Amino acid sequence: MAEREFGRGGPRVPVIGQGTWGIDAGPRDQAVAALRAGLDAGLTHIDTAEMYGGAEAIVGEAIAGRRDAVFLVSKVVPDHATRAGVVKACEASLGRLGTDRLDCYLLHWPGRHPLAETIAGFEDLKAAGKILAWGVSNCDVAELDEALRIAGPGVIACNQVLYHLGQRAIEHAVIPWCRANGVAVVGYSPFGSGSFPRPATTGGRVLAKVAARHRTTPYAVALAFLTRLEGVFTIPKTARADRAVENAAGAALVLDRDDLMAIDAAFPRGTQPRSLPML
Ligand code: NAP
Repeated sequence: MAEREFGRGGPRVPVIGQGTWGIDAGPRDQAVAALRAGLDAGLTHIDTAEMYGGAEAIVGEAIAGRRDAVFLVSKVVPDHATRAGVVKACEASLGRLGTDRLDCYLLHWPGRHPLAETIAGFEDLKAAGKILAWGVSNCDVAELDEALRIAGPGVIACNQVLYHLGQRAIEHAVIPWCRANGVAVVGYSPFGSGSFPRPATTGGRVLAKVAARHRTTPYAVALAFLTRLEGVFTIPKTARADRAVENAAGAALVLDRDDLMAIDAAFPRGTQPRSLPML
């Protein structure tokens, strides 16, 4: 499994991980089996959040007995993100996950509480060994600048942001900022949250052609494209074991110049939007 440093000086983490939003919508045993199949295939970065309903408990069941092999990430909702609220929310997440620590803890998106408060809570959790690192999510450059000013260099582990073939806005400013400051970029909703390009469309045909050349699937091709840039990770969600294995194949896939040009032409980056797109 291809892996890279998660933020400057951070641990090495597989470029493809597993999302868990909505994983509690179907049968629980199927969701647990999918996460375990993903772990077996090397997708050891698991992303969850207190906001994802029953997802944390399902993750807890899936990682039981193999916690040390997992890079576990959860998130605090902005309404809880006061200094004391962050600690309380994290402890509740740890309980649902059945673990004593998170590898990384994120602010789900910037909210009404001052960032300095949230960061103070993160630092309290770090000092207590309950989180090993912290990061942010859905932050544009101005918010990243503010976080950096408060935390200082080399502290923010990652920024988790929307990134799929139809939404490449982060390539304009967020990825360059993160790369310059040693912050990992974790792209979420790599399949457009269930609206993957249909085979009958121009883009769908391009993906199918590249996939056929590499004897893989359009989904694996999309994941390989989305992790082509240094410092960038992706976290597809599936509640199906076979699809978790299929998604893992994207990490071994190396797209050549012609593949990249064809995908880039079919799914252009577009101009920079005024504000950062998010779900
Ligand atoms: P996604 O990963 O883009 O797409 C998930 C959809 O794709 C599901 O319908 C899934 O169906 C399907 N799928 C997955 N693998 C497939 C495959 N190989 N073949 C065909 N279909 C496949 O959507 P997402 O859940 O929005 O994003 C991923 C993760 O990012 C989330 O789960 C969450 O952890 C994180 N996220 C973070 C934020 C944030 O604000 N920080 C926001 C959104 C998402 P099945 O499950 O039926 O396979």
